[in-house]
Amino acid sequence: EFLKKKVNEPILEYKKGSRERKALEQELSHYSKNVTEVPLRIGNKKITNNLERKQVMPSDHKSTLARFTHATKEQITEAIDVALQARVSWEKKSLKDRAEILLKAADLCAGKYRMSLNATTMLGQGKNIIQAEIDAACELIDFFRFNAVFAMDLEKYEPISTKLSKNTLHFRGMEGFVAAIAPFNFTAIGGNLPTAPALMGNVSLWKPSDTAVLSNYIIYQILEEAGMPPGVLSFLPSHGPDFGDAVTSSPHLSAINFTGSVPTFKHLWRRVADNLDRYVTFPKLIGECGGKNFHFIHPSAHLDSVATGTIRSAFEYSGQKCSACSRMYVPKSIWETLLKKLSEIHSQLKVGDVRDGSVFMSAVIDDKSFDRVKKYIDYAKTGADGAKIRLGGTYDDSKGYFVQPTIITVTNPKSKLLTEEIFGPVLTVYVYNDADVDKVLESVKDATPFGLTGAVFSQDKDFLYKARDVLRDAVGNMYLNDKSTGSIVGQQPFGGARLSGTNDKAGGPHYGIRWTSPLTIKETS
Ligand code: GLU
Repeated sequence: EFLKKKVNEPILEYKKGSRERKALEQELSHYSKNVTEVPLRIGNKKITNNLERKQVMPSDHKSTLARFTHATKEQITEAIDVALQARVSWEKKSLKDRAEILLKAADLCAGKYRMSLNATTMLGQGKNIIQAEIDAACELIDFFRFNAVFAMDLEKYEPISTKLSKNTLHFRGMEGFVAAIAPFNFTAIGGNLPTAPALMGNVSLWKPSDTAVLSNYIIYQILEEAGMPPGVLSFLPSHGPDFGDAVTSSPHLSAINFTGSVPTFKHLWRRVADNLDRYVTFPKLIGECGGKNFHFIHPSAHLDSVATGTIRSAFEYSGQKCSACSRMYVPKSIWETLLKKLSEIHSQLKVGDVRDGSVFMSAVIDDKSFDRVKKYIDYAKTGADGAKIRLGGTYDDSKGYFVQPTIITVTNPKSKLLTEEIFGPVLTVYVYNDADVDKVLESVKDATPFGLTGAVFSQDKDFLYKARDVLRDAVGNMYLNDKSTGSIVGQQPFGGARLSGTNDKAGGPHYGIRWTSPLTIKETS
């Protein structure tokens, strides 16, 4: 079906009283009432001893959702051996056979397991219904399906052959294993990081985030049900440094597929450099890191779309999308009007437990996040950098890690509130003099070391395209008259430039090739 139409998975709305809403509520109640045991998975082994760790609900941190354990270094090394054995037959399978498993998994995600993926993402990662649906259902399904189709398209290219030579190009999997290190903020990324390489004939060690083990394990089980052979994927919640050390010190590391923070990604590069003389092949390091994404507003901008777009980008999922808008540049002439519009929307935003179907956002992921975000808000409260809290500014972690959507203005363009990644529901605004619009635009380009997403709002097309050209190097994904979040697989391939990552564009047609070690064969007659 998908192969014919190639459309993105439609979003279900979960209207009150609808069948899907009832089914979802059942799953929410099941996962709220039961503590799920999440094992380690290495080959055929399911290891459930010492489940001493827990995943809790961010909006109610006394509620435990899952128990799990961290893999030891020995277990990670064992998983590498098992993976290398599984690789022998997996890599020899045809791409079509491997793709079929992912297509089948996509159908299972779209049907039988949609509600459990959504419920565990909502409860465990603090997403409201729609934010879960666009991630744990739609994007995950799209990754599985589009990756399969894009990979098959890669094989369409045939090198030129002559009378004397028959030339062929084979997208062979890489020799060794892939380490996939997944983030908490997108269940879909958790599923994509290990499986995109697996589709191309690789074997992956999958380290889920501790704060997303439950939803990620459901994906693992779906893949197993879809026919993924044992050993191709190992599921290894682990202590980050243990996992990093074990995989980077193996001679067989062929790639790291990472989504997380810049310091952790740099640490992995350093570990790889330390081990450079041991490797069979140069490991490919592919990473998606943070951002300090901007909305740049021109005096001609359509204010209603700026207001809704900015509230959505900055605060949906509590500002915990890598692509979230966290700095905005606004001309003085429209600031008061815009602030009024922002404040009208802001006053209607409901913050609370994800099981309440009407919440706009919930708590931030954990205590570390809460403390980090709180520090930035407290810094703003001191008035440093000319900071003033305009909206929100309160927080409370007595029950869950709640931070109210917060808008701050600063007068110092170099303020850390405008340059550092906060990764929470905090937006910093810099109000500029209209006459300085070009100068300010120019300064936005190099204001941070990041280069993930950015948006320009302007009805003046000349300015819009000028801004597009000025900011060309400063982003991987640029939005013209739209918010900086919400890329869709197959529509806006996603990835950041500069320190936001290696910009390999997940959800794009060329992602798969990164996971291959292509073999060219010339046969003369
Ligand atoms: N692709 C997502 C978006 O466009 C963000 C992914 C991420 O947070 O890493 O909003």
